[in-house]
Amino acid sequence: MLNIKIEKTTCPKPKPVDESQLGFGKISTDHMFVMDYTEGQGWHDPRIIPYQNFSLDPATVVFHYAQEIFEGMKAYRTAEGKIQLFRPDCNAKRMNDSADRLCIPNIPEEDFIQAVKALVEIDADWVPYTDGCSLYIRPFIFATDVGLGVHASKHYIFSVIAMPSGAYYAEGINPVRIYVEDEYIRAAPGLTGFTKCGGNYAASIKAGEMAEEQGYAQVLWLDGVEKKYVEEVGSMNIMFKIDGKVYTAACTGTVLPGVTRRSCIELMKDWGYEVIEGKLAIADVMKAAQEGKLEEVWGTGTAAVVSPVKELKWKDQVAHIGDGKIGPLTQKLYDTMTGIQWGKLPDDKGWIVPVC
Ligand SMILES: *Cc1c(COP(=O)(O)O)cnc(C)c1O
Repeated sequence: MLNIKIEKTTCPKPKPVDESQLGFGKISTDHMFVMDYTEGQGWHDPRIIPYQNFSLDPATVVFHYAQEIFEGMKAYRTAEGKIQLFRPDCNAKRMNDSADRLCIPNIPEEDFIQAVKALVEIDADWVPYTDGCSLYIRPFIFATDVGLGVHASKHYIFSVIAMPSGAYYAEGINPVRIYVEDEYIRAAPGLTGFTKCGGNYAASIKAGEMAEEQGYAQVLWLDGVEKKYVEEVGSMNIMFKIDGKVYTAACTGTVLPGVTRRSCIELMKDWGYEVIEGKLAIADVMKAAQEGKLEEVWGTGTAAVVSPVKELKWKDQVAHIGDGKIGPLTQKLYDTMTGIQWGKLPDDKGWIVPVC
């Protein structure tokens, strides 16, 4: 149990008036959580302070060698005005899995959850009231040793910030076009694909920009060895419904194990679908599309929950999915996931953790 010291802001910021205009990750709440790590001493000085800049030496190692990890989760306001989290234990555990790979010290899961809850509680007024809007929460840890030698840092900062965010889709949930990347790769066995580390994103920006220039919303990454099998989308896992069965890449080290992915798989299995976690060749996806068997494709992730895909472009081939509209299973997953998250549906699985 952390003994969190609280320093409240003396000048709270005005809350956004029109929550429909919030966008994603643009404005912060009034406070932030911070805790320091020193080798030999462990994590210490947990505190909530007014939202403010960090002051760091230019030779701080994170700026140069990217020893940094993060998480992404949300707090939801129910119709009764209660505030709740969705499976925060999964984020706490995943942050430690990322930490292990990047030689960053672990944070006990209960301390992680306590820090998140404490920040959400103090900034509870910032959790949006508008349907579909939520408070996006960003826990992160970065290395703060000073000096240019490459080594595991002996000092770290763990921080949590929060940002009220609008409905991901301003005009409802719209199917997107996706570019299958066949030159660059995001991950390979033995690398950091399964971690949420900034470096993964830095290395993927170029492909994302190129896809965007050509009118695609996101990049679909293939496996890094053969560039043959589908893995995931920019910041989402991806699922394919082919001839009644659902396929998604297995979490064997190159794919980020999404909380939304896992939850959708559990729901679909409950509903009697066969879900296959394994290798799916992009050529077979394109073939299924030609044969009229590619029924639905969707991405899964905390930000968008479920994001339907209407088109895939791979080399000189284009696959059109369904009739360009959201498919029935995609819609059912979206309705069920958001229903549980916003407290409109019963939480039969014990996924919800109340905050206040
Ligand atoms: C965060 C993330 C996801 C989705 O994970 P969720 O826990 O469902 O939000 C998928 N892929 C990548 C690369 C990610 O960073």
